[in-house]
Amino acid sequence: MARRKRKQGAAGTGLVAGTPAGDAAIAKLQELIRIPTVSDRDPAKIDLAAFDEFVDTLMEQFPLLHEHLSLTRVDTHGLLFGWRGRGEDAPVVLMAHLDVVPIGDESRWTHPPFGAEIHDGVVHGRGTLDDKGSLVAICEAVEALLAVGFVPAQDVWLSFGCNEEVSGTAATLAVEELTRRGVRPWFVLDEGGAIAGEAFPGVAVPIGVIGVTEKGVTSLELTAEGRGGHASTPARNGPTARIARAITRLDAHPMPGRLPEATVELFSRMAPHMAGPLRPVIRKVVDAADSRRLRPLITRALVAAGPEAAALTRTTFAVTTLSGSPALNVIAASARAGVNIRVMVGDTVADAVAHVRRVIDDDSIRIDVVESNEPSPVSPYSSQVHQREDPAFALLERTITDCFTDAVPSPYVMMAATDSRFFTAISDRVYRFTPFRMSKAQREAIHSYDEQIGVQDYLDGVEWYRRLIAGLPGHGEVTR
Ligand SMILES: [Zn+2]
Repeated sequence: MARRKRKQGAAGTGLVAGTPAGDAAIAKLQELIRIPTVSDRDPAKIDLAAFDEFVDTLMEQFPLLHEHLSLTRVDTHGLLFGWRGRGEDAPVVLMAHLDVVPIGDESRWTHPPFGAEIHDGVVHGRGTLDDKGSLVAICEAVEALLAVGFVPAQDVWLSFGCNEEVSGTAATLAVEELTRRGVRPWFVLDEGGAIAGEAFPGVAVPIGVIGVTEKGVTSLELTAEGRGGHASTPARNGPTARIARAITRLDAHPMPGRLPEATVELFSRMAPHMAGPLRPVIRKVVDAADSRRLRPLITRALVAAGPEAAALTRTTFAVTTLSGSPALNVIAASARAGVNIRVMVGDTVADAVAHVRRVIDDDSIRIDVVESNEPSPVSPYSSQVHQREDPAFALLERTITDCFTDAVPSPYVMMAATDSRFFTAISDRVYRFTPFRMSKAQREAIHSYDEQIGVQDYLDGVEWYRRLIAGLPGHGEVTR
């Protein structure tokens, strides 16, 4: 990988791979990756000792942070650190989570998932990107600032969840704790977007995508019932056949695409860097005062560009779990399919459920809503299309272009869910951005196998958080 020349600025220089300071920072990340803090919906299956070890190790690794910041424990292993600033107004919250998803099929990993081995300048392991990388990078940045006696302009809270991957309660408890203390964050920053390479076909530069809203996660269970009985005398149209038909109908009939304002903004920012046939189309959409006519066109183009682009435009449905008969020679008395839905901004849970009902078109199938979350409110962002600026969003943008000089920052609609959605209750500005360069392959490795982060990319992320905290404007300069 090509190493970029870094600027020597007033803010100081970042960590560099291969130097003693860079190696020391990487060693801490490796040590934490090796602790298998795997979360599970079943509390009995959680290795609490691993979580204890993680919290203890963090304390040993970052002594200044633990000395100077107050710590409130939330839930079993959630950590809420408070760092007193020079002023009390406009506090900010930096979030991350210390739990990880299971490794899945270990044989598919090129390197051991909890080995944290380094090969060709890349650290391999579960949690490198999601989300221990962020958590340790934040701690590293805070530790470095404390080492030079830095005091932030405003209060900085660090909220580290312990059960994000299973939609646990650590984040809501942290929100309750902050509410009790009367904290109304100026902005909240959680995992989410990245410095994304190959963000869109034909776009040559990395896009620093900052999530300004996230889709709502909703799950349904479809159930078909019948007589069951012996597999030697099957009847037509039994529960399994009806469930299969419902699934194929759902697969064939996606919800119509939409083009939220944040997506239009994303494309307007990508357009100058775009090659290929889409460029003139996108330019027209962005420039047109009345773009209503062209929007369906661009929506169709996005859907055609592949699943990642398509998910930017619409509510998605994924059939995830399936069950039928427990035995090979028994006809299922009931068959079930779980459907995971990501509800697009502009749609509602009710719209999505109505869509499922309409397209499966079978009254014999019961639809139960298992979990239900509406899309998050859209946080304010700077818009080139509408020529307006938001001070907090602009700070994130500036810090991105400062650290990643080739990247183009932009708002976007985040597709996955994060703990930050609970923070919309106490802050109008909730942003989702992870300051690491991620290739398409790296993004696809999240929640899959071969999750990995570049050594220098990690160190650049530390520098990003350091500059963000050092660049906080203080409440006098914060325009609400
Ligand atoms: Zn995560």
